[in-house]
Amino acid sequence: MFLSLDGIDGVGKSTQVELLSVWLTEQGYSVCCCRDPGTTQLGETLRTIFLKDKELEVSPGSEMLIYMTARAQLVEEIIRPALQSGKLVLSDRFLLANVVYQGHAGQLDPADIWQVGRIATAGLLPDLTIVLDLEAEQGLSRLDGEKDRIESRGSEFMEKVRQGFLAEAEQDPDAIKIISGFGSIDDVQQQIRSCVAEFLRQDHEQSGD
Ligand code: ADP
Repeated sequence: MFLSLDGIDGVGKSTQVELLSVWLTEQGYSVCCCRDPGTTQLGETLRTIFLKDKELEVSPGSEMLIYMTARAQLVEEIIRPALQSGKLVLSDRFLLANVVYQGHAGQLDPADIWQVGRIATAGLLPDLTIVLDLEAEQGLSRLDGEKDRIESRGSEFMEKVRQGFLAEAEQDPDAIKIISGFGSIDDVQQQIRSCVAEFLRQDHEQSGD
């Protein structure tokens, strides 16, 4: 089982991934947590270079491919082996974020990014993606410290990202669920758990476990 959490910057993904991982472990799952881009040495290196070095010239196509490179490594090195050994994989972002940030809110065609993504991941997609939804301004206001390259693009860009997530969820409502990220950390976590529990129950029924 492969689950992913996504949404705009500051919505609470990493906070919720951590809490969800604890709960899933309590439910008896062996959980492998990762973040995209990141987790592998290559992914973390690319993440730092791209997000932190804001002076570095990066074209839209290069930007998309940096994320794809990090993801290809993540799938090969971490996610596929974990799934093969029966683990539940929980990823902070995945291909959908690439489609939304560099497609819907960027300069590239979302359909093209899905296509490159299929090659980069050899067709591997999350069984379920939960998108945490929040107004752009609210997400950005939760962030402290120096803003990275993407966060620095501001609230107008981030609102396009938000609308991109909503549009993609509308196109694939079985695989992409929207949950409001507005409530308290505990409230949001409860909603995520209910959604995941329902998904896992349906999956067990279908596989006859
Ligand atoms: P993301 O990974 O989506 O960028 P984080 O989980 O890092 O977001 O959260 C960004 C900041 O907002 C953190 O300081 C976190 O403690 C805080 N935060 C997370 N969820 C909530 C929430 N539901 N309400 C208020 N603050 C939150």
